[in-house]
Order: sequence, then structure tokens, then C-alpha cells
Amino acid sequence: MSQTPKGFRLHIAFFGRRNVGKSSLLNALAGQQVSIVSSTPGTTTDPVEKTLELSSLGPVVLLDTAGLDDEGELGQLRSERSLQILERIDVALLVTEKNSWSLYETRLANMLAQKGIPFAVVRNKMEDDWPKATSHGMKGGATVTVSADTDPNDLPFQHKDTPPGLDATVPVLHVSARNGLGLDNILTALARLSPESVLQKSPLLADLVPEHGHIILVAPIDSGAPKGRLILPQVQAIRDSLDGRKLCMIVTEGELCHALDILRGDPDLVVCDSQVVHKVNAATKANIPLTTFSILMARFKGDITALARGCAALTRLKPGDTVRIQEACSHHPQEDDIARVKLPRLLNRLAGGELHLTYDAGKEFPHYPTDCKAVVHCGGCVITRGQMLARLHAASEAECPMTNYGMAISLAQGVLTRVLSPFPEALNAFLEAEATH
Ligand code: SF4
Repeated sequence: MSQTPKGFRLHIAFFGRRNVGKSSLLNALAGQQVSIVSSTPGTTTDPVEKTLELSSLGPVVLLDTAGLDDEGELGQLRSERSLQILERIDVALLVTEKNSWSLYETRLANMLAQKGIPFAVVRNKMEDDWPKATSHGMKGGATVTVSADTDPNDLPFQHKDTPPGLDATVPVLHVSARNGLGLDNILTALARLSPESVLQKSPLLADLVPEHGHIILVAPIDSGAPKGRLILPQVQAIRDSLDGRKLCMIVTEGELCHALDILRGDPDLVVCDSQVVHKVNAATKANIPLTTFSILMARFKGDITALARGCAALTRLKPGDTVRIQEACSHHPQEDDIARVKLPRLLNRLAGGELHLTYDAGKEFPHYPTDCKAVVHCGGCVITRGQMLARLHAASEAECPMTNYGMAISLAQGVLTRVLSPFPEALNAFLEAEATH
């Protein structure tokens, strides 16, 4: 678990005014000294990150932010950096002190609600008001075992009220970071609020095939394949097949026909790398469900329906149109690089001439130009689901349809409707968007 990539960890941010005890709370939950804790307001400047394992949540990244009411020019910079965190988190804790609730909290809470980030309000420093009856809940640190099935609304010692000025009803939890009170309630609330896919609870592919169903994974071993190992989506697919008690066979595209021949019946699902989808499509009978790793990951880590809808914009491209190719990391491009060689070739073919392609790489939150006809995003293996959804949201705000490499390649190869067929909602979104314009 210590090697779980950050992109697959649940990202939890602590927001709030200065000196409400965000760092102390983070440290109490982590069970160790992670952030600098001080009674001087504004001690935390840049967001501090800590990766660790929490018993009820699995691998997480805890992000401690500067106080959002930080003063002065430097304070404004710190606050801006704290707000950028909104683009990469899955869930948040809005920390307040006792009963203090002001415009700051309202503004922040509404920002979280607008961005669709689930959050709980945490009233810290409640030790003086702590009812004697809470003694049974005085466990502290990250080793507390809580059940994800516990409803935070049923937890003792919390208010069910809606904080003033806030439209959404959210859990309001009372804690004392100093005395380790109420920490288990926070873990329970986080387990309930967090997206299932980030908690590794939603399947990657096992739900697509019947009990003991047969899956064939097609993994090309070409010059782009890493030496001596499989890439993460392939490993995840194998593990998910095992977890779901499916029968899984993994082959290269060269062995696919032989694999299909030796099976007694048709497989229940074939999953291939997007780059060989045309070959795999030709080799598998039309009645065999086929999809790609890229499309599985789009469902697991993003919004497959929105990306499928966005893919329809590629059917309307004309020569000279601006298309942004976006990568979530700045890796060194390889010879025959997908983003710089293969994808441009396919996109130009779709448009019937040369497009104006722009590039954007890295984790920094991008801005989408309004003259952009489409964004084609990579698989985003290094970013979180929250970051992927934030990018989709920002592109949608800029009226810039977004899709991903895998869908774009499948569209250009004429097989998109087939590889989307296992996901009827996404397929319908693509077909409707394609027919609308
Ligand atoms: S999928 Fe995106 S983030 Fe992952 S290695 Fe490729 S370019 Fe980088």
C-alpha cells in the first residue's frame, strides 16, 4: 500500500480560517506530527501533503492548507494556493472553532458545494463543552476502526443543522483535536462521503461479466510497453477479475485468435489497449462485448458519459480548428509518441485536413481557451478522480467538449460505438450529441 500511486489515493483537504486547528486535527488523525503546529496564526504557508494508510479508508493523502482568511499580499498568494487544492481533492473537511461561523465559512462551503466536492463541517476545540457521556468515543489517532456503513447522521454528539448561509445539508461534527475527541466520527463521515471508486469499492470490469465469466485482456508488448512489467490499468484489470472470481486470460494481439479458438465458447468480455483496437475489433466476432482499458479507466476515474458526449465534437472538426491535447504529466515524449505522432495523424484524418493542435502537460490546473473546439485528455494516471472531474467541469464551463485519447482513437478507427456498447448510458450520450449538431 505504501507504493499506491498518488493518483489512486483518496485526497482529503483541511480548509478553514487561520488558527482553528487544522494542522492539529490533521496530525491527530494521522497519529503523528505531520504539519508544523503553532498557535501563531498563519503558520501553514504552502499546502502540506502527507500520504498514509487510514484503517477505514485505505491509502490517503491528507492536505493541510493555509488559512483562507490569510492577510496581506503573501497571505493572498497562500490563499490562492489553498484554493488550487480544490481542483485535486475528493473530499474536504471545513474546520471551524466551536460555534464560529462567518461569511468565510459560508463562502468556502458554497465553493465546495458548487464544485461537487463532498465535505463535512468540523467544529474543533470542543473539549470544554464535551458532554461527559462521550467518554466511550475518546479514541484517537489513525488506528481507530470504524465501519463505512455507519451513518454519520446517526452518530452521537453532532448537530444535524445546516450552517447559516449554506444551501446543502452536511454533517457537522464536534471534535477536540487536542484531546483526541470525536476523531472516529470524522473517519466514519469521510468513509461515507468519499467517492466509491476512490475507495477502490467500485469494480473496474467485474460487474460487466456474469459469475465465473470469461475475460480476455489484450496487452500489446511493443516498444512503448515498459520493460518487465505491465501498466497499471492492466494490473488493476487482472486484480479486479480475481476479486470478482472471473476467469481471466491475458494475451498479446498476436495470440488473440489462438486464445479465442481454444475457448469452448465466446468470452464474456474482451478488453484491449486502444492502440490495437482496430486489430482486436477485426479478430473478435461482433456479438462478443469489446471495450478498451482507456474506456474502463474513464468510467473508474472520471465521467465516462461526459467524455463520450465530448467525443462527438471530434466528428464535427474542420481543417484549421483548434484542438487541445492535454497530458496530466510532463513525461519525455517517445519516438512515435501517441500525443505528438499517432493522435495528431488520426485527428487530422477525422477533420479531413490539418488541425491547429495545442499542447498542455502537467498537474497544474489548466485553463481552457474558448476558441478550442475540443480537448483530448490522456488517461490521467497520475491525477486523482477529483482532478479529472475538475478538469471536465472547467472545460464544460468554457464550452469546450472534452474526451480522452482512447475514445478519440476508437472513433478514428470506426469502432467507438462498439467499444462503448458495454456502457449504454455513455453510448447514448455520444449518439445524442453526435445527432444534435
Ligand atoms: S496517461 Fe497521462 S498522466 Fe499517465 S503517463 Fe500518460 S500522459 Fe502521463
